[in-house]
Amino acid sequence: MKSLTILGATGSIGTSALRVVGMHPDKFSIKCLTCASNIDLLAAQIKQFKPAMVAVLDEQGADRLAKMLSGRFCPEILWGESGFIAAAQWADSDMVLAAMVGAAGLAPALAAIDAGKQLALANKETLVMAGDIVMARAREKGVDILPVDSEHCAIFQCLQGNRNRDLKKIFLTASGGPFRNLSHDRFKLITPAQALDHPTWNMGAKISIDSATLMNKALEVIEAVRLFDVSVEQIQVLIHPQSIVHSMVGFKDGGVMAQLGEPDMMHAIAYAFSYPERMDINLNFPDFSAMEGLTFDAPDTNRFPSLGFACEACRRGGTLPAVMNAANEIAVDAFLKERIGFPDIFTLVREIMGAHTCIDNPELSGIIEADRWAREKAQFLIQNLSV
Ligand code: NDP
Ligand code: MG
Repeated sequence: MKSLTILGATGSIGTSALRVVGMHPDKFSIKCLTCASNIDLLAAQIKQFKPAMVAVLDEQGADRLAKMLSGRFCPEILWGESGFIAAAQWADSDMVLAAMVGAAGLAPALAAIDAGKQLALANKETLVMAGDIVMARAREKGVDILPVDSEHCAIFQCLQGNRNRDLKKIFLTASGGPFRNLSHDRFKLITPAQALDHPTWNMGAKISIDSATLMNKALEVIEAVRLFDVSVEQIQVLIHPQSIVHSMVGFKDGGVMAQLGEPDMMHAIAYAFSYPERMDINLNFPDFSAMEGLTFDAPDTNRFPSLGFACEACRRGGTLPAVMNAANEIAVDAFLKERIGFPDIFTLVREIMGAHTCIDNPELSGIIEADRWAREKAQFLIQNLSV
């Protein structure tokens, strides 16, 4: 029996993870669950999975939850960052699934590593912001990082039984998002509802917008550089609208291995939870004979400049990836609130990266300060942008 902590239990990844757990109650028990403010869903999850502890964003949420649970099964309830860290380090948990969204996921993920927990990592922002520190600490603590991002899980699977030093190239696939074929002059008309409507994957709001701007792929390029210790030049992004090939690895003898499957995050979650074994989660295989074809195209980096930002962030390193990430988080939030237009996301990220005085080999405090600076700068610029 493996005991689990799910950070971000009420989100798209968190709920898929609990579906996997629900299919195998003989294999997994839930020790801690966390969310921000979706207290109603958390209460339902508590009823089903009976965790020992839960943590929510603030004291009000904690009070509301305690009232809702009065007279029923009630776990210990904590709140705020210290609550999330306590969940990540819970003594009885073997593995932590880091599925909070955004930079808020960094401190709990690091805390889980420090406590020697196996880390199933969905929160890519953690590796983008502080990849060097995270990977070094995981090595030091002998902690496995099991990638839950579908592309990185695919690459990880292709590397099983192969040596990392034989890896020559990574082919990182991208759906291309809902605006893959939209002409640039129409970008300013894009609404949040259109951007949230992803053609193949069903995901949380922030990552759906990131998919539409290809910023998700930009973050994933940096994530792959950190996880697999490759240079950005070794990564080729391919637009693959069918989302069946989750990514591919090229080896030095010219061989290429790919991992395929239906676009459903339950696969990557189950793989991380049961690694190195596999378990049945009743997913259908792709219907290959009914397919019209699998296509792979070069991305249009003029309409979607995000991949260029990622290359720059990787080459420059230091605090620049954290700044890219923070500027994007604020820009996405402003777009979702209809305070800025879709193309303004690119403008903001470009401008803030350009204005940043990069620090080489930063400590965690330097990264957090760069993150704070970029958020403030983004808020300032947003006030001056006309919608
Ligand atoms: P969602 O927005 O669906 O869920 C986010 C979760 O984090 C929710 O439980 C939410 O709580 C919680 N949360 C939000 N803000 C905070 C905060 N400030 N502090 C603590 N908890 C918070 O996101 P996804 O599940 O889509 O994505 C989660 C992570 O996984 C992201 O980093 C994303 O990039 C990555 N990922 C997601 C994929 C997907 O298919 N969805 C695929 C690959 C990676 P509440 O519900 O209360 O707001
Ligand atoms: Mg992905």
